[in-house]
Amino acid sequence: MGRLAQAFTEVEEHAAVFGQELKSLREYAIFLEEENLCLKRELSVLSETDPDLVRANSALIQRQAAETLEKMYADSFHVCHLCFGRPRAEPCLFCEAFLRRDG
Ligand SMILES: [Zn+2]
Repeated sequence: MGRLAQAFTEVEEHAAVFGQELKSLREYAIFLEEENLCLKRELSVLSETDPDLVRANSALIQRQAAETLEKMYADSFHVCHLCFGRPRAEPCLFCEAFLRRDG
């Protein structure tokens, strides 16, 4: 293979990796948007009620979200923003740091 052809192959490979990362980021953004909408809905339902109840509910939602992400990671999927939702064959430092921060 000529040098130019090889250079094109490398660019194509990088583009494929970049495309995968973009897809993961998009999935992560969708996940965050849905979670955000869900939290806003919960808050608007409760905003006119007892503030202590709102705080308690907010803490509950955060715990549930953290548990969902921990379960996802335990089921061998990435939860880090780099590879969110992709299958995971080995432990991932980014995921583990993210879960420690969240939990
Ligand atoms: Zn990860």
